[in-house]
Amino acid sequence: MTMYEYECACCGRFEERLAMGSAPRTHDCPTCGSTAKRVYSPPGLAFTSASVVALHEQDERSREVPDVVRRQAPTTSESRPPHPALAHLPRP
Ligand SMILES: [Zn+2]
Repeated sequence: MTMYEYECACCGRFEERLAMGSAPRTHDCPTCGSTAKRVYSPPGLAFTSASVVALHEQDERSREVPDVVRRQAPTTSESRPPHPALAHLPRP
């Protein structure tokens, strides 16, 4: 059994569970009884956020063409500004 989606002009969308390949183009609305047209929507295969997709794409690109580093990142804690939450602590 497969879920098929229909849209009634009066009541909106509803789903019907029918045998695969047996869904007609129209179906009676279970609420008002009028004829509803079948609608097609993408299957819910994956809902990945845009930020996660961007990270995956960046990871894929870096396998073949790694990003060029033009300067070295600071390595000592003195070259980085202190964390704002630690700024009020006494210094040695
Ligand atoms: Zn209806």
